[in-house]
Amino acid sequence: MAPDVNVYRFEPLEGEVPDYRPGHFAFLHLLDEQGNTVVKRPYSIASSPDMPYLEFCIKLVGGELTGRLEKLEQGGVVGIGRPGGHMTYGEEERSGFIAGGTGISPIISMLRHIAAQGKKGDFIFFYSARRKENILYHEELKRLQQKNPSIRVLVTLTREERQWGGLTGRLCKVIIEKYAENAGQYRWYLCGPTGMIKAMKNCLVELGTGPSSIRMEGWG
Ligand SMILES: Cc1cc2nc3c(=O)[nH]c(=O)nc-3n(C[C@H](O)[C@H](O)[C@H](O)COP(=O)(O)OP(=O)(O)OC[C@H]3O[C@@H](n4cnc5c(N)ncnc54)[C@H](O)[C@@H]3O)c2cc1C
Repeated sequence: MAPDVNVYRFEPLEGEVPDYRPGHFAFLHLLDEQGNTVVKRPYSIASSPDMPYLEFCIKLVGGELTGRLEKLEQGGVVGIGRPGGHMTYGEEERSGFIAGGTGISPIISMLRHIAAQGKKGDFIFFYSARRKENILYHEELKRLQQKNPSIRVLVTLTREERQWGGLTGRLCKVIIEKYAENAGQYRWYLCGPTGMIKAMKNCLVELGTGPSSIRMEGWG
């Protein structure tokens, strides 16, 4: 999907895709030949519950799991734990989403769900990526906005890029305030590198959002 980022789709060997809610994560288990877990790590589910497979969007960082995952071939078998987690979309009609990098995984699940359900309201997604080539789900984000005009997506690039007419620089209070008036009235979902997520939470609180209206998941 982008340099060092792959999208993986898994279908059950038998039975149905397990029940989950947009925003849930599941442990991915890489197995040895006997089917025993060699390594497991949590990954947010990027698909939405109406899709016939589980999708994950994973940055290949050459670690214990990702180093092995790179070698997984099409048709390979993995183990997937029961989905869970607290950052699930609460079906609000006014929601704000903020993500950086692969932090888009649980957010794209929520946006796919919102579009599939034809939900009306105000859904604004602020997405931070390094360069244009690092914008994950770029084409789909455009399609989701066309399909559902209640969805607005604002991408900001943190590195200079020619022929980019959009926002540049790190996400900040000024940008959020400009596009999400009355930020305090939204339910917010934040996901990405822990430092960024904490900074974004502080911005939202300064803009009048109560901490109980912010759900966040940081990693990396
Ligand atoms: C709730 C949750 C959801 C998540 N969802 C996602 C998601 O959707 N997508 C995603 O990409 N990640 C996600 N993560 C992160 C994921 O769980 C892993 O932490 C990540 O993929 C790294 O796992 P790993 O085993 O490959 O790296 P680890 O082996 O755990 O290594 C961690 C870091 O150390 C570095 N490292 C490892 N070995 C070496 C070495 N020999 N030399 C130098 N550096 C080294 C790696 O580069 C890596 O940056 C999520 C985490 C959480 C908690």
